[in-house]
Amino acid sequence: MQKSVISRLFRPQILEMSAYKVADAKGFIKLDAMENPYNLPDEVASEWLEMLKDCELNRYPDPAATELNAIIREVNGIGDDFDILLGNGSDEIIQLLLMALPSGSCVLAPEPGFVMYRQICLSLGLDYHGVALNDDFSLNLDAMLAAIENRQPAVIFLAYPNNPTGNLFDADDIRQIIEASDGLVIIDEAYAPFANASFIEELGRHENLLVMRTLSKLGLAGLRLGFISGRPEIIGELDKIRLPYNINVLTQETAHFALTHYQVFERQTQAICAQRSEVLAALNAMRGVKAYESAANFILFRTESGKADAVFQGLKDRGVLIKNLSPQGGLLSDCLRVTIGMAEENRAFLGALVEEL
Ligand SMILES: *Cc1c(COP(=O)(O)O)cnc(C)c1O
Repeated sequence: MQKSVISRLFRPQILEMSAYKVADAKGFIKLDAMENPYNLPDEVASEWLEMLKDCELNRYPDPAATELNAIIREVNGIGDDFDILLGNGSDEIIQLLLMALPSGSCVLAPEPGFVMYRQICLSLGLDYHGVALNDDFSLNLDAMLAAIENRQPAVIFLAYPNNPTGNLFDADDIRQIIEASDGLVIIDEAYAPFANASFIEELGRHENLLVMRTLSKLGLAGLRLGFISGRPEIIGELDKIRLPYNINVLTQETAHFALTHYQVFERQTQAICAQRSEVLAALNAMRGVKAYESAANFILFRTESGKADAVFQGLKDRGVLIKNLSPQGGLLSDCLRVTIGMAEENRAFLGALVEEL
């Protein structure tokens, strides 16, 4: 089809976008995407397969995902005063929430932050506004409050811990932002399994607060399941635009199964957190590297000025795939991000890095 026809068919915002790129990771030690390196232990996997035998693939899934809902509430400590909405990954929930806003609404998030907030805003023609973090990756509270006052955002996203910086923002700063905002504030707790910090217990204190989580970073990235929790009157509106069967049968059954074996994932996340301390110490012991404390399952680190691209490529040539954030510029200039893997993967990464610095 001719270019001129294409450009008449689609909205200008879409034409200007580029698709979300995922690096081809085949054959690499894969430390680029915040996945849990462990799969299910063999005996748990056998039990899971046994359970799946009875799965009714011929039927539509339970549109309300009743059983899965119940165990998500239990595991995450979500009280009866709040409703939850499930999404095909929390990415879908972000999209759903933004789709419900009046056109042209302002959406605010600190930067550097999770790129999907901006990406989805652009695809929907919303007015995305990023507010720069301080140099130490803390929230610039004055700038956030000024942006709230001036732009009256309909939605504010705060990733807690933040991706790609790994830190937890100050909880009192977040409370001030929630209180200053007439719009919704979404605390994105994708890395909650590694963080030991949450706003779930504060849901009752703020009418405009929503907390979003995902099973992806816990160890089930392949399933695509996220959820958001908040006041029933808010979740009820979002539920109207959710496609009725957005959580498929296999995901519902598997997530339910996995959450009844939650201790498996707790053991894995503890091992990852122990490795995180070791990798952080090893990175900071290297000359020419500054690594930042992380409450997530990855570590952001800075290389000497102008070296990040070469270091990234050098690691890749040695079979280790991490994420190069330096091209994003600003506070991320010279920065790389490594996901915490198994001990031997981390050793391979550190060994390769020493050679490439
Ligand atoms: C990974 C990530 C998500 C997306 O999670 P999915 O449930 O896999 O879509 C959301 N927010 C942040 C901050 C993330 O890093």
